[in-house]
Order: sequence, then structure tokens, then C-alpha cells
Amino acid sequence: MKSAEDLRALLDRIDRRGYPAYKDTKGAYSFGKYILGIDHVQGDPFAAPSKVSVRLAGKTAGFLPELYKEKHRRIAMQDYLLRQFGKRIEDYSFKARGSGKSGLMGVSRPGQEILERSACLVDAETGDVAVHMEIGFPANGRTVNAGELKKILFGFLPECVEKSLLYKSLPADKLKENADLADDQHFIREKMTEEGLVVFVANGAILPRQSGVSDKPMKGAVAFSSPESLEVAFDLPHKGMLKGMGIRKGVTMIAGGGYHGKSTLLEAIERGVYNHIAGDGREYVITQDTAMKIRAEDGRSVKNVDISMFIRDLPNGKDTKAFYSEDASGSTSQAAGVVEAMEAGAGALLIDEDTSATNFMIRDELMQRVVSRNKEPIIPFIDRVRELYEKEGLSTILVAGSSGSYFRKADCIIQMDCYRPVDITDFAREEAARFPASGSDAPSYVRPSFARCVKSDKAVWENERLKIKTMGLDGILLNKETIDMRYVEQLVDTEQLNALGYLLKYAGAHLFDGRKTVREAADALVGLMEEKGLEAVCGGAYLPVNLAMPRRQEIFACLNRYRGLKL
Ligand code: ADP
Ligand code: MG
Repeated sequence: MKSAEDLRALLDRIDRRGYPAYKDTKGAYSFGKYILGIDHVQGDPFAAPSKVSVRLAGKTAGFLPELYKEKHRRIAMQDYLLRQFGKRIEDYSFKARGSGKSGLMGVSRPGQEILERSACLVDAETGDVAVHMEIGFPANGRTVNAGELKKILFGFLPECVEKSLLYKSLPADKLKENADLADDQHFIREKMTEEGLVVFVANGAILPRQSGVSDKPMKGAVAFSSPESLEVAFDLPHKGMLKGMGIRKGVTMIAGGGYHGKSTLLEAIERGVYNHIAGDGREYVITQDTAMKIRAEDGRSVKNVDISMFIRDLPNGKDTKAFYSEDASGSTSQAAGVVEAMEAGAGALLIDEDTSATNFMIRDELMQRVVSRNKEPIIPFIDRVRELYEKEGLSTILVAGSSGSYFRKADCIIQMDCYRPVDITDFAREEAARFPASGSDAPSYVRPSFARCVKSDKAVWENERLKIKTMGLDGILLNKETIDMRYVEQLVDTEQLNALGYLLKYAGAHLFDGRKTVREAADALVGLMEEKGLEAVCGGAYLPVNLAMPRRQEIFACLNRYRGLKL
């Protein structure tokens, strides 16, 4: 392998030459403690910055195996190292100067969730640490400024590595706390499954966020405290006894007046499928990790979904056992969402009336009398919610402030009262019993079929010029087609969308053969990533610096919204 001195000599040679001369730096160089990889060199100073990696052998990095052997601890450690490294390079970004992106030093910036990312990877066996980052190779105009790049590669970067990627440079107690939190979160997840819980919200949790644009905890918020009747306790391996509200499997309704904190609770539950960092306020809000938020999504594309349990006998005669729409309505989109969630293996549906289609959710008694069953194609969710649980084991947590009809269906009714949950199950049920219920007139439940196979035009994926771009959290641009992901609300990081782009590309080349079902294709993707990590699906010469692992559920969501797929 070439040495750091080789790189220095090379840089001296290309100084002041045209910018493309930087291309020669591509390669790996031993810097003693680590290997510097110049994996991709940008074409000019205004283009996307160059991709650089830093690799430390486990022996050199020196982290204790107990910090990275187990997956959940390893992901927490990677996240911690990435944040430390990110803080260090912040001090140096653009300290080397020049035109365009000269001097930029960037690495992905995690938010409140802890995700597995390509930016920092620790090997489970060896403890090797790899960081993938971007550096803007400096130029004056369009000529190489080797002196400034030497500042970065021989000064700034070694300093950052020394201070943030070595065990001995980091506070051991903080590393341990970080791993311990991951243990406790993991422990709760496992125990919840054993005990039939779908959600746990610890007493003392802070659920509301600072603002619509900040995901930090709100200051001065009312801390969560469980009603006694719903309280459960976990004896955590590190933190010890922790009490909070447990939501059991079944149908749970969150009621309460407007502005009393219903949606805030549901949003925290939605995010609880991910672990959160210490200090977030939601570090002990844990949700069964297959739970899926379902909402109305006017205008989305739906392909070959059997929504007949909710919608049948459409006036236009459309088949709802294999429903297609390029422009679904609120109710059909939400119906498709539920059936797709079943296909994706969700254990719980999370629904907020604020973002639901009313006609999908309820059909009130007066309406039932006036408009007869055979003139109404929609069998509302309320008529299926119990069957979904009893026949399919699919739980529902539903925010409903305006429709008391769900009182009759819910196993548990929580009222949010000035941000405090109150268990009103018995009271609400008694009140509901005093109203005469006009029995459901819904036709009987039939399990939907999930046999649809997935096919796509191979030419799209084999085309060298295939362009995949991510548009924030809003969607993925595939050549000229947008996959609209705006309403897939449990995607929390644009890096997850980047990864979805790669997953699609991989699946397009290898899995969409017209014989595999959607489930089989998604399972193959998940299996591959579990076995071989994000690298497995990227294919290129180097690992992209900005990928974060999406859940299986969001992979389904992406396939379901891609209009170019034949289903
Ligand atoms: P709902 O869905 O019941 O109408 P929201 O959940 O939207 O109510 O909450 C209304 C407002 O109250 C939001 O601005 C939210 O930030 C704030 N809020 C929610 N929970 C708390 C809390 N625990 N402490 C303080 N403010 C809160
Ligand atoms: Mg609300």
C-alpha cells in the first residue's frame, strides 16, 4: 500500500495543475494509525465533494468488544462516534480555502433517532472502524491547490481522527452510558413482545417538540405520567426500575378535546419504532418496531391491492379485489394503506383522525339509515377494526377526538386531558352502552390476498444513465419520475430515502422479475442488508457516504408508491 509520504509527494507534483490532476490521488494510503481512502475524486471544485474514508484497525481504535459485539450496542456506538467525529470536523470545515466547495469537510449529521448509517461502520468481529465522509478538494479557480489539501489531509483530518475515533481519546463513561441506554431500549423492546405490549411510554418522557421545524424536546413541557391502571414496570439492566404506560395489543383509542396532546402522543409513538438519543425526551418511548402509520393520501398511486374488505361495488364497476388507481381518493388510499401494511407484516396500525378520510373511518347511524348499505361502497374502518385484531392479530392505536363510535370497539380508551393521559375505558364503555347501537351492516370479512408479483422494465435499471435523486423527505426522483414519499411519515431522515433509491436500483436489476411477490422482493432486500449490510445493495466501487437503514415497512411503502412498477 502507498504511504502518506507517497500522497504528499504526489500532491506536490500536481500542485497548480488543472483540477482533473486530482484524479490521480484516488487510492488508499497508510497514515500509520489509519488508512486514508480517497474513494472518489470530484471532477471540479463546484461538483459534489470528493468521497474519502478513514479506516482504523480494531486494535488501533481500541474499543472494548462489549461495546460493539451485539448489534444494538454496535449501532449505538457507531452513532456516538459519528456524532463525535462530526463535531470535530465542524471546526475545520472551510478552514482550508479556495473556490467552490474547496475546504468543505462533511459527514452525515444524525438527528434525534439512532440509525444504522454508512457514514460510520464498526465491524462486529474485528472492531475495525470506518468513517465515510466528503472533502471538497481545494482549488484556486480551477487549478489544484495542493497546499490547502495537505492542510486537510495531514493536519485537520488526523487531528479529528485522533480525538474522536480512538477509545482512549473518548470519555469511557459516556461510551458506556450510550451502550447502556441501547441495552435498556433493546430490553424494553424484547420484553414488550413477551408481555403483549405494543407501546411503552415512560413516566417523565417529554413528547412534544420545540417546533414544527425542530425535533428537539420542548422546554417546559408537561412530562408524561401514566394513569395507574395502565402502568407497567420494567426492571432495566442498567437504569433499574422504570415505570410508564403500557398499551396492550388490541384496539386502543386516544380520545380527548382538541389541543390536549393527542396527536403529540401518537407522533411520539410513531417515532418510537426507532431508538432516540439520551436527552431527547423520548428515549423510553418504545413502539413495537413493525408499527405503521396509516393516513389518507389523496392522489397516490395504488397497484393491484385487494381493498375489497373496505371498498366494493363501486359505481364505475371497478374491481376492488385488484384495485388500481393512478389518483386514489382519501378513502381508497387509506384502505390500500391498511392492506399494504398487512402485507408488510405490520403488528400495529397508528391512525390519527386529523389525517384520515372521514368516510373511511366511520359511517354514522343516521347515515346508515338514510343511505342504504347497497348504495355505499365503503365499509368503514370501524367495522373492520376488531376483525383485524381478532383474525389477523393486527392492533390499532387510533386518535379520535370527534367520533365516539369507536368507544364500542376499543379495548382501552385513553383520554388526553391537559397533556395527561387518563384511563376512561370503563366510563366511556358505560356511556356507549346507553346509546342503542345499530348493528354493523358490513359484509363478512375476507382476508385479502397478497399474491401480486412485481415486475419492471429491465431497460430502466440497466441503463447506465439511470439517475436517482432524493428530494429531502419528500420523495425519490427516478429519471424523471417522482416517487412521492411525503406521507410516509415514519421516514425520519433523508439518508433513508437515499438508501431506498439504491435498494430500488438493486431490486430493479435483480428482483423485479415478474415471479417474485412484493413480499418476496422486500424480504430479499432486507435479508441481504441484514447479512451483508448496506454495502450489499450499493454495487458501486465505493460505499456512498450518506445512507441510513430504512425499515422493512418503508421499503414496502416505496415499492407501493413507485408508479413505474408493474404489479
Ligand atoms: P391534539 O391532537 O389533541 O389537538 P396536539 O397533540 O396537536 O393536540 O397538541 C397541541 C399543542 O400542545 C401542540 O402545540 C403541542 O406542541 C402542545 N403539547 C403537546 N403535548 C404537550 C405537553 N406534554 N406539554 C406541553 N405542551 C404540549
Ligand atoms: Mg390532533
